[in-house]
Formats: sequence, C-alpha cells, structure tokens
Amino acid sequence: MFMTDYPLAEVTSLGVGGPADFFCRPKSAMEVAQAQSYARENNLPLTVIGYGTNLLIRDGGIRGVVMQIAHHFAQAKVEGNILTATTGCLMSSLAKLALHHGLSGLEFAVGIPGGLGGATYMNAGAYGGEIGPLIRGVEFVQNGSIGHWNRDEFHFSYRSSRLQNEVDQAIVTQVELELSLGEQEKILQEMNKLQHQRRSKQPLEYPSAGSTFKRPSGHYVGPMIEKAGLKGLRIGGAEVSTKHAGFVIRVGKATARDFLELISIIQGTILQEFGIELEPEIRILGES
Ligand SMILES: Cc1cc2nc3c(=O)[nH]c(=O)nc-3n(C[C@H](O)[C@H](O)[C@H](O)COP(=O)(O)OP(=O)(O)OC[C@H]3O[C@@H](n4cnc5c(N)ncnc54)[C@H](O)[C@@H]3O)c2cc1C
Repeated sequence: MFMTDYPLAEVTSLGVGGPADFFCRPKSAMEVAQAQSYARENNLPLTVIGYGTNLLIRDGGIRGVVMQIAHHFAQAKVEGNILTATTGCLMSSLAKLALHHGLSGLEFAVGIPGGLGGATYMNAGAYGGEIGPLIRGVEFVQNGSIGHWNRDEFHFSYRSSRLQNEVDQAIVTQVELELSLGEQEKILQEMNKLQHQRRSKQPLEYPSAGSTFKRPSGHYVGPMIEKAGLKGLRIGGAEVSTKHAGFVIRVGKATARDFLELISIIQGTILQEFGIELEPEIRILGES
C-alpha cells in the first residue's frame, strides 16, 4: 500500500520539494480510512494532497504518510441537477461534465487545474464563482470512520473552509454539488470567455501554484507587487511573473527555499510600502 521516500516534486505543479517518508494513493473511502487508521496507530503524521496545484513543499519533504487523492479516485455521476463526484476528479473535468448535461454553476472552474478535494478544502473560486455555495453535502473520513456534513456545517468563506481548522483531520472523499439548469450554448460561451481571460492574463506557460497570496480586502495583490517594483524579481529559479505579479513561477531549476525567500521578500516589501500583510494562498508544507 505504501511507497517509501517518494519524491513529492513529481506530484506538485511547482515541481519542487523533498520526499515523503511513506506515500499512498487510496482508491476508495474504505482505503482512505485504513490508511488514516494505520498512520494513527503507528504515531505517524498524515498529510493529504490532491493534484498539488496549490502547494509549496519544503526541500526536506514531509515526515510520516502522504496520501494523494487524484486520478485513481475519480468517479462522477449526474442525477437531475445534482453532480456527485469523488474528490480525485479534476475541476476542469467536472466543469465539462456539467456542460455536457446543460448544468450551470461550474463555469468558473473550467481553468482551475486541481481536484475537487483541494477545491473543497480551499473553497476554490475564480471570476466571481466559488465552490462553497454549490456544495450540498460532503462525505469525509475522520478518525478512521466515514462521516457527512451538509453545506451549512462547512463554514465556507474566502479561500477558507472548516477543513482548514479541524483538530482531527477530515479527508473529503465525495462531494455533492447542486447546479442549476442552463443553456448549453451559454455555458460553453462563458467557459470559453473565462479560459481566454485566464490565458491572456496568467503565466500558464510556466510552473506555478496559482495566485501566491490571498487578496486582502479592498486591494489587488498583482498591482501592489508591481508598484513596489518587484515584477521580474528572481531568487534562484523562482521569479515574480512579469505577466502577472500575483504569481510566483518556476523558471528553470529551483528549490523550495528559493520560493520561500522570494515570498518573504514580497511580504516584507508590501508591508513596508503599503502597510498590508500578505497572507499566502498557497499551502506551505513539510520540513526545511
Ligand atoms: C495555473 C494555476 C491556476 C489556478 N487558478 C486558481 C483559481 O482560479 N482559483 C483557485 O481557487 N485556485 C486556483 N489555483 C489553485 C489550485 O488549483 C486550487 O486551489 C485547487 O482546487 C487545489 O486542488 P489540488 O487538488 O491541486 O489540491 P492540493 O494543492 O493538492 O491541496 C490543497 C490543499 O487541500 C488539501 N486537500 C486536498 N485534497 C483533500 C481532500 N480530499 N480532503 C481534505 N483536504 C484535501 C491539502 O491538504 C492542501 O492543504 C490555481 C493553480 C494553478 C497552478
């Protein structure tokens, strides 16, 4: 069930970071529960990841067990306006499935590269849409057993969900999304428009983990970083994108340390120039 010393750089979009002591890819909620129980019984910390598109893993890697929920745990079905999917489904695939059934609500998600589990954890969103309000119910594994929450029990807010604050880690295995009936042609037009916007504004030609920082209320991160003169600043192989300063990208060979240093410089400069504390949107995991 477990692989050892697994190179996590291979399972993240940034492509940096050290190994996991133990690595597994469960294929069912039952296997998730078994792996969680194994980690607890053996006193090993457990870290869950999806497609690693929102992660910066430090160069020392992650101790204990890393569980990846991705392609091998990806099934979805549509009944009426309810789309039920396991959390290894890609957001882009779910958006296309909704389009196929003439269901509206997931247009915003067509260009989000990660999976449903990570999107639920992060309350992912774009262009005015967000996953939280679409969620009707969630199945999760906690303390080795399966439980359910409905939307109201989830406490979604901007890029935040209950999952980020649970003392006992909850691993989401399945999500029910409530969509609305729409016109296929209009849904497709909206998706194409948003994809075009994304391609023209974001540095998709380079590895990144998406927007580096959360948007502080009343401000836009990219323009602030640009105004502070940091566009194009490079530390090792990490660079503030010249296309969109809200993205830190990998240009060539890089270490997690390069990214951490660059992020810290940006935070320090923005605090000094604008008095604003930038909070990372990307999740920083592991040991130096
Ligand atoms: C080019 C690019 C563009 C992006 N654009 C957007 C955007 O427009 N909007 C946006 O919101 N995000 C965006 N992102 C970030 C990212 O794609 C989303 O946050 C995505 O939903 C994360 O999913 P993931 O599977 O990659 O999760 P990961 O990055 O692997 O994990 C993210 C967090 O979720 C937790 N997690 C993952 N799966 C589970 C699970 N099953 N149960 C419990 N916790 C879990 C992990 O522990 C981690 O803390 C972008 C990223 C890139 C690279």
